[in-house]
Amino acid sequence: MKLHIDEVSKSYQKGKIKALDGIELELTPGVYGLLGPNGAGKSTLINLLVGNLKADRGTISYNDVDITKLGRQYREVLGYMPQQQQLYDDFTGTRFLWYMAAMKGLSRKQAQASITTLLNVVNLQEHAHKRLSSYSGGMKQRILIAQALLNDPAILILDEPTAGLDPKERINIRNFIATIALNKIVLVATHVVTDIECIAKEVILLKKGKLIMKDEPTHLLKSME
Ligand code: ADP
Ligand code: ADP
Repeated sequence: MKLHIDEVSKSYQKGKIKALDGIELELTPGVYGLLGPNGAGKSTLINLLVGNLKADRGTISYNDVDITKLGRQYREVLGYMPQQQQLYDDFTGTRFLWYMAAMKGLSRKQAQASITTLLNVVNLQEHAHKRLSSYSGGMKQRILIAQALLNDPAILILDEPTAGLDPKERINIRNFIATIALNKIVLVATHVVTDIECIAKEVILLKKGKLIMKDEPTHLLKSME
């Protein structure tokens, strides 16, 4: 299983803003941290990977097939937790997951099985029937990760999964990501290096649209000293 980003470039405003410039990456199962200062191109890369944008040049392929040709087959293996997702505060945890399962086109049977399992996985069984408005920040992030896992995706993209959390909740989310990463390609965009320390096999560092480094987290930390 692999995701190959082959010489991908993307610019905005008719080429005036180069958001990504010749990015070459191969991702295999495991956790990857996606780091870089504001404007580095992280959101653009994520938008390309989830199919919200098309590359100007280069291709992204999943198991050697261009994702733009895979279409629905690709969306079925993809799980995505966007940044600052709209939460339906009046929904209970269960209702939210049912709603998201319907959006993803899961059958009732598939949805029932996944939702029961996932509420356990994210440890929210006891809060399943409470409204999202009563959830803590960490609980909200966990239910958002759960919705990204509904279709048991082979590729999981988490955009700032610890945004707005305190250090203790961040560690919980980090440890949790490690537990769900088995046999999946997991890409975690974050500003907080400690989020992916210990759990990432590699860190991908972008700057001004270029790939600066792709290496083990310990090497990144050393280079920043
Ligand atoms: P992040 O926290 O991921 O760095 P940004 O603030 O860079 O978020 O971007 C948030 C969203 O706004 C992204 O989807 C990005 O594509 C879009 N965006 C960023 N910069 C611009 C811009 N100059 N014009 C229009 N949209 C932008
Ligand atoms: P990051 O997520 O790392 O902050 P982005 O991918 O959002 O980076 O942005 C990369 C560059 O592209 C930035 O200069 C940003 O302002 C610009 N950009 C992003 N989205 C848009 C957009 N929709 N229109 C114009 N410029 C954009």
